[in-house]
Amino acid sequence: MKIKKAKITLIRKTLGISANFVIQFSVDLICARCLVSFTKEFDESLYLEYVAGRDPLLSSERVELKSGDIDKVYYTGNDIDIGLGIRETIVLAIPSAPLCNKECRGLCLVCGKNLNKEKCDCKISKIGLFTPRLKND
Ligand SMILES: [Zn+2]
Ligand SMILES: [Zn+2]
Repeated sequence: MKIKKAKITLIRKTLGISANFVIQFSVDLICARCLVSFTKEFDESLYLEYVAGRDPLLSSERVELKSGDIDKVYYTGNDIDIGLGIRETIVLAIPSAPLCNKECRGLCLVCGKNLNKEKCDCKISKIGLFTPRLKND
């Protein structure tokens, strides 16, 4: 992964700091359908509020983001963890099943050919997932 540009705007508030992350980065991914690796460019932004004090829902001091509550981060002491915002921006942007192309045809389940690049004669659409009969059978 490469970060090309990161812009973080911090604004001090009464109870903490609001932070806006704008990050341009590229990631090498593997297509979930055809398994070809490709590089995807992202330009993402994330807004976080760093709130001074302890998270009332957490008993430990460890600060961690919970899903559904990603816009608030509690911190103690004088330091806020900017890295956390950068990591979250990136993690949230990367799809769990990336596709090289929305139209990706994937691999043939029978012969394994990359159907974006070549055609095959497997009749998978008619016979479903059962073993295909060879043409000259
Ligand atoms: Zn693909
Ligand atoms: Zn095939």
